[in-house]
Amino acid sequence: MPSVLVVEDESAIAELIAVNLRHNGFRPIWAMDSVTAQRDLDAALPDLILLDWMLPGESGLTLAKRWRADPRTQAVPVIMLTARGDEADRVAGLDAGADDYIAKPFSTKELLARIRAVLRRRTPEQAGEPLTVGRLVLDPMTHRASFEDHPLKLGPTEFKLLHYLMGHAERVHSRAQLLDHVWGDHVYIEERTVDVHVKRLREALADAGVMVETVRGAGYRLTATPAPSVVTAGAIKAQ
Ligand code: CA
Repeated sequence: MPSVLVVEDESAIAELIAVNLRHNGFRPIWAMDSVTAQRDLDAALPDLILLDWMLPGESGLTLAKRWRADPRTQAVPVIMLTARGDEADRVAGLDAGADDYIAKPFSTKELLARIRAVLRRRTPEQAGEPLTVGRLVLDPMTHRASFEDHPLKLGPTEFKLLHYLMGHAERVHSRAQLLDHVWGDHVYIEERTVDVHVKRLREALADAGVMVETVRGAGYRLTATPAPSVVTAGAIKAQ
């Protein structure tokens, strides 16, 4: 269930948004000011942020800029929510790194449509469409994955992990980022757990296991063009 951080100081509006999100398969988290929003983000990354412009303390615009500059939060989609609707403000919001902009008053139907559109654009692994990296294919709808047309047997965590890595292929993800995105709110899980599941994923992928690369000191990456690994070289020498 995609989580949406709703940063909005007016409780009536926040409540209306939260009810609609819940009814449409999202998990809302409400933050009424910038301090709370930052604390929520530090605890776990949401799938999307709805950000009000006019907030007590730091403005939504300042927050959007800061989150875009931070490597940990920069990939989280942001929709700015505001009473300001004129062209200059719209441009300022998008310049600050917002993915979209919706002026109050808005229809909840439109808001939900915008949320879905942004998620589809920013996080293809949530749009439900099959993902392909090299000869690796994963279909979130049927919950099936295959390599060179041979079905893969994956545990639920390995499937989620592969799903995320395929949705963000060729990029390096730290263990903390993978915990945030794949394990969600379970921030108490040790980073070592990620290593255990990556190992299982590689085993399940068999010949495609080399596509999950360890990037020393940085994390993991799924790539369509794996570099020859040290392990493989050693195995060839031993023969
Ligand atoms: Ca406000």
